[in-house]
Amino acid sequence: MNPVTIAEIAAAIRNVPDFPKPGIQFKDITPVLADGRLFDGAMNLLVEPYRNSRVDKVVGIDARGFIFGAVAATKLGAGFVPVRKKGKLPWNTHEQSYDLEYGSATVAVHVDAVKPGERVLLVDDLLATGGTAAAAMRLLEKLGAHVVGFDFLIELKFLEGRSKLAGHPVRALIGY
Ligand code: AMP
Repeated sequence: MNPVTIAEIAAAIRNVPDFPKPGIQFKDITPVLADGRLFDGAMNLLVEPYRNSRVDKVVGIDARGFIFGAVAATKLGAGFVPVRKKGKLPWNTHEQSYDLEYGSATVAVHVDAVKPGERVLLVDDLLATGGTAAAAMRLLEKLGAHVVGFDFLIELKFLEGRSKLAGHPVRALIGY
């Protein structure tokens, strides 16, 4: 089978105008997930730079980050840690709030999910304003983790989300 190209993945991402509200161009990645060859190819491209660097834990951000993060973890021989919306995790948690366009949101992680000094890679489907990823980064810093990088399928470059993640390598396969 031919290796999957970034252009093929980009062509499969569906743009849904005005979802979930007017003015938002929603990047729907479900057609990539539904195609076995594309999904596996996208995962191989996502983890490629990290194959030879030790990653102890991959952190996936609620909810589509769980899909990409969990597969990245098994491909890298790493553990998986979910960062979830507040109130979903059953054990003791650290919480971090961040501003949204309207109001705020809070994410949480189990206090024992990562040991101090462990090397973690954060994975999500899409980097927009960077608020979610920056909040996840703060949670991991509270745990004493060493953040080796951020890995996204898609980056909405015009929102300049990576400026909130300064000091860490940020990578996205596809930019808009
Ligand atoms: P942000 O905190 O602004 O970087 O938003 C990132 C989160 O919101 C990611 O987990 C994305 O899944 C989701 N998201 C934000 N904007 C979009 C969009 N245009 N299309 C699809 N998902 C989005």
